[in-house]
Amino acid sequence: MTFSIHGLAVARGIAIGRAVLVAASRVDVAHYFIDASLVGNEIDRVRRGRNAVVDEIHRLQHSISLMGPKDTPHELKALLDVHLMLLQDEELIEGVKHWIKERLYNAEWALTTQLEVIGRQFDEMEDEYLRERKSDLEQITERVLRAMQGETVPAIPALRAARKSSQADLQLDDTVDVPLVLVAHELSPSDMLQFKQGVFAGFVTDVGGKTSHTAIVARSMDIPAVVGARTASQLVRQDDWLIIDGDAGVVIVDPSPIILAEYGFKQRQVELDRGRLSRLLNTPAVTLDGQKVELLANIEMPDDAPGAVRAGAVGVGLFRSEFLFMGRQGKLPDEEEQYRAYRQAVEGMQGLPVTIRTVDVGADKPMGSPYKEESHLNPALGLRAIRWSLADPSMFVTQLRAILRAAAHGPVQMLVPMLAHLSEIRQTLALIEQARAELRRDGLSFGPVELGAMIEIPAAALMLKTFLKHFDFLSIGTNDLIQYTLAIDRADESVAHLYDPLHPAVLRLVADTIAECNAQGKSVSVCGEMAGDTSLTRLLLGLGLRSFSMHPAQILAVKQEVLRVDTSQLRGWAESVLQADDPQTFMAS
Ligand code: PEP
Ligand code: MG
Repeated sequence: MTFSIHGLAVARGIAIGRAVLVAASRVDVAHYFIDASLVGNEIDRVRRGRNAVVDEIHRLQHSISLMGPKDTPHELKALLDVHLMLLQDEELIEGVKHWIKERLYNAEWALTTQLEVIGRQFDEMEDEYLRERKSDLEQITERVLRAMQGETVPAIPALRAARKSSQADLQLDDTVDVPLVLVAHELSPSDMLQFKQGVFAGFVTDVGGKTSHTAIVARSMDIPAVVGARTASQLVRQDDWLIIDGDAGVVIVDPSPIILAEYGFKQRQVELDRGRLSRLLNTPAVTLDGQKVELLANIEMPDDAPGAVRAGAVGVGLFRSEFLFMGRQGKLPDEEEQYRAYRQAVEGMQGLPVTIRTVDVGADKPMGSPYKEESHLNPALGLRAIRWSLADPSMFVTQLRAILRAAAHGPVQMLVPMLAHLSEIRQTLALIEQARAELRRDGLSFGPVELGAMIEIPAAALMLKTFLKHFDFLSIGTNDLIQYTLAIDRADESVAHLYDPLHPAVLRLVADTIAECNAQGKSVSVCGEMAGDTSLTRLLLGLGLRSFSMHPAQILAVKQEVLRVDTSQLRGWAESVLQADDPQTFMAS
């Protein structure tokens, strides 16, 4: 039966494929495709993992049998029997074999997929005792996974990424060569990075807002995604056929042939549009009245740099360095590792400037244990970004040293997130000086960097003169500026309808920041999601912005807008949008 689920449109395009449900706790399990010749090998790995756990249980049963009946807890015996029974369950074993043979999933992925399938059946059981056996099933899966650790075979990354282009001609058959779309309750930004390998053609999550970091990473991967789809992970079943309409924010489950044909057509249109845009790659971004516009890339990892160059970026306007710090169980990267990563990004940009933002963890970018950010009541208002860095100066100086050293290899700008206080500015500048002094003392070479501050907190936008006394440039982080101006948690889908880039207060802060920088001859860019939103390009140009930093996939679409406008005719109109009670109504005029 066809039905649709509505969420938030976050990454454009259409994906058609089979659902892969991943439980939040299982996201860190490796997902890759195996070569067909390794099917037997993978099945053996699961078998060996299972046998190891069976042996372990037998040993436990034996030691229990040696105890006197008084010392033997009856519940423990019963529990071990249940675990043995589950381990030998035909449905589990046959299911795992199915995913390996028919879909070429690696062993761990096959096991957790089958866990999902059987877990659903347990959820639906009337009998409470049986329903609760789901947790036993999870426990034994965990133990089998642990027993399998260290036996992983090499992945075949991105085996199916190439199929993205042929989805339009898709037939709903059971061949292995079908695209897969990931459905999860929640994914952290670092989970998303794992999926950057290209295994999935689209994403759906129950939670998340338009500018949550999970959504941002999905956009940077340039694959269709819908977040905030609330109950999607409960309504969709493993292996269901899905259409993800990333433009409308809709997920269609079990589509009929007519719907499928319609979306196949739309998908071809999207591909044609992309083909057309690619002709603009080497065209300079200059408006009709000769204004040069700088189109920069936002990146998460150093190996995103070559892709940014290929997408036509003239530099990196935002390298979110925190992605090097996340998903490592709190083990921070040392100076050498960071230096290598920043240098790789600098060299990858082939002489184009790279803006490295100092670490911005916290809020919806948790570090993972042992950092317990989740325990804070309001993580977005807590120890985040520069506050986190200043709370641990030696960690911060390590990062500053690494960035300064990378600057010896090409043009680097350093950007500091979430500043609001003069005291924070002073401490930051003092630590940068300290890092330079240490490098001199240690005889390590380093390069010059321009220093910039992000304008993300209304307080910062209201004290621009102070900021401009200390910094060479400003970068407006509209994602957070909107969040903090309107008191809307950007990751919370229940208030997503209130997240409004065109709110008059937001526009005022953005406009004033641009105007003040222009008046003082300092450079300013926007690096939040507003920069990549083509419906806002004209307005930002009209407000005087000439530097936009966005996920690389958006660069050509924004360039197309730039090429079409005459900024001298936009100024008056932008001013009236700024003065309007309801700017949205002026946007179309
Ligand atoms: C922003 O807040 O607009 C920004 C670019 O930073 P991030 O999205 O990483 O918080
Ligand atoms: Mg921000």
